[in-house]
Amino acid sequence: MQKDGKTGGQAVPAPVAIALHRVLGMIANGEATSRAAIARLTGLARSTVSQQVDSLIDGGIVEETESSQSVRGRPPRALTISPRAGTIAVADVDVAATQLAIADLGGTIIGRDIVNLPVDRGPEELLAEVSGRLHSMLTEHGHDPARVRHVVAGLPAPVDFQRGCAVRPPIMPGWDAYPVGDYLRKQFGAAVTVDNDVNLMALGEATQEMADTPLLVIKVGSGIGAGIVTADGSVHRGADGAAGDIGHIRASTRRDVVCRCGKFGCLEAVASHRAVLTDLGIAPPSIDDRLYASRELARLVADSDTSALHRIRQAAADIGEVVAMLIHTLNPRMLVLGGPLSELQDEILSGVRAAVYEQALPLATRKLIITPSQLGTDAGIIGAIALAGREVFSQEGVGRLLAEA
Ligand SMILES: [Zn+2]
Repeated sequence: MQKDGKTGGQAVPAPVAIALHRVLGMIANGEATSRAAIARLTGLARSTVSQQVDSLIDGGIVEETESSQSVRGRPPRALTISPRAGTIAVADVDVAATQLAIADLGGTIIGRDIVNLPVDRGPEELLAEVSGRLHSMLTEHGHDPARVRHVVAGLPAPVDFQRGCAVRPPIMPGWDAYPVGDYLRKQFGAAVTVDNDVNLMALGEATQEMADTPLLVIKVGSGIGAGIVTADGSVHRGADGAAGDIGHIRASTRRDVVCRCGKFGCLEAVASHRAVLTDLGIAPPSIDDRLYASRELARLVADSDTSALHRIRQAAADIGEVVAMLIHTLNPRMLVLGGPLSELQDEILSGVRAAVYEQALPLATRKLIITPSQLGTDAGIIGAIALAGREVFSQEGVGRLLAEA
């Protein structure tokens, strides 16, 4: 979102599109809620601001309502994004189930649902169900599916962000290069962003009041991934979208274990939720009972089962070793641990913390905050909504919004 509003006093007027984008941006992120405040903060002429605001009101994108706060006897007016301006639709695909949500353009969640289909059913079946349910949710809540402004889908896979597809995901038959972005674009007639699920989690965690950036999120689920939100609040995806794909870095222990990717000793093969469950003889999450495995593992830990505690501590040490390397490289201010295995917070947190403090340099750990996820399983959905909101109010997004208004 553009925030550089210092053109006051310049002789050359800014192009209307830029003025409009700045006015709308300020209303959208709550920086200014009146014509006077926008003029003051942007340095734009009062008449220019009013012209832009009027065109946004005419287009049904902004509303001007009576404010509850009274200012010097004048009837105060507040500018907000209109609930009729459109909606955002998001899907956070995970191995066993997909979470869905629809939200208004201000990011307030209107409805939620879960699709209990495992990702290995393939993209055709899963995406058809996701699209159908999102359409139903919109209709049920009285929103026109034709007014969806942005769709975000998170995938538990390396994602080619530009093409909107997964790239050679080891556990997702049929998904390699499947055009997820194009499919959803056709279904909703809206712009679509496809991203890695842990990137979305990281964005979600970064929206929390206690969050600090740079922020590194580690998800320990059936795979292991990292997401990085930089100091300016954007996701670091790397040149090809492969940043944070840490599950197949070789762990230093148990190098004889074969990974699903075909290599030996990958971090994911020795320290993921799935690896721990397999070693302890616990059946993995099923469609009928997605939480059985987590409950069973938590019960063993609560009973101080020696082999379970040993196995989890070993996984924490393996994860901690790789995370310490990342702390060196990225120097984050905050490290967030999420995913089903990290629900056993004390065991995992203390193991990772010990490895990080032992192996990373003091300068990188002096102010480092290590914390469990604040949002739990909602992190991906919250992050997806935040990302969609940014896209809607980006320069390009506002252009689309006005063209469709
Ligand atoms: Zn591997």
